Amino acid sequence: MSYIIETNDITKDFNDFRAVDSINLNVPRNTVYGILGPNGAGKSTLISMLCTIQTPTSGTAIVNGYDIVKEANNVRKSIGIVFQTRALDDILTGREHLEMHAALYGVPKDLRQKRIDDVLELIALGKKIDEYTKNYSGGMKRRLEIGRGLIHHPKLLFLDEPTLGLDIQTRESIWQYIEDLKSSIDITILLTTHYLEEADSLCDEIAIINNGEIIKTGSPKNLKSELKADTITIVSSDVEEIEELMKNQHFIQKILLNDNEIKLSVEKGENLIPKIVKITETKNIDIKSIELKHPSLEEVFIKYTGRKISDK
Ligand code: ADP
Repeated sequence: MSYIIETNDITKDFNDFRAVDSINLNVPRNTVYGILGPNGAGKSTLISMLCTIQTPTSGTAIVNGYDIVKEANNVRKSIGIVFQTRALDDILTGREHLEMHAALYGVPKDLRQKRIDDVLELIALGKKIDEYTKNYSGGMKRRLEIGRGLIHHPKLLFLDEPTLGLDIQTRESIWQYIEDLKSSIDITILLTTHYLEEADSLCDEIAIINNGEIIKTGSPKNLKSELKADTITIVSSDVEEIEELMKNQHFIQKILLNDNEIKLSVEKGENLIPKIVKITETKNIDIKSIELKHPSLEEVFIKYTGRKISDK
């Protein structure tokens, strides 16, 4: 397995406060990797060290094969950064932003036009690209910022809260865009987000950070199934009878009754539904519907941090 980011006990102190505490993070190539954590967890500090904006107090990190302290210039050339602070100039067109960035990052003159054309295809801004960015919607601005971060062909893109403050429709179009990006070019994306459904839908892997430490890593799917907290909801006119049948089954963790609905807390619900149906059939119980729900990433987050992600 080759990692595009490898940190080794990376630590950052601000006076006597430890913002990042001996983090060992391995980010596999060509993945979308999410860093999640409540406010003040140390996400920005960690990312600014990886982008060479801040230097670690101790520990090291290798980004794209380069040491973030000893080879900071090479690290900078090999990454793209899209941070939260909106950094577009109202009096430039989208195309001018791309041209300026290409020049700034030393893309050779004879290659610039081709690079810009390639990025334009990805960000699909159409004719708008020749308008001033003050006329762009939030989603268009975000696409331009991401496109600009790609113009020098970075192998690693840092995306800090890519959809913060955007409405749900625009958010979904940015998600689609990030997914297309990942499947069309050779790139790894390190993403921070407050939106857990965003992490769930986009990230191959996530690291949950709290108080400067990584407390859990894994794919969203595995993290959710590790909670062992599926809920099977059965609608029936015979819920009391179902309760009677279920309460002695070893696979049932908890039962909740509500009108004509019964909720069963179980592990690996998909494997149990046939069993439950079989048991109820032996008593001729009429079942109107059965629904299975897996826990959300929000529940995973609360379990490991003790907080909601939106808590201050
Ligand atoms: P996050 O991005 O997860 O919200 P940060 O990395 O911004 O967290 O901050 C982690 C902790 O370090 C916070 O308690 C913050 O107040 C503190 N911190 C961040 N930058 C500085 C700084 N320049 N000086 C002092 N403390 C800082």
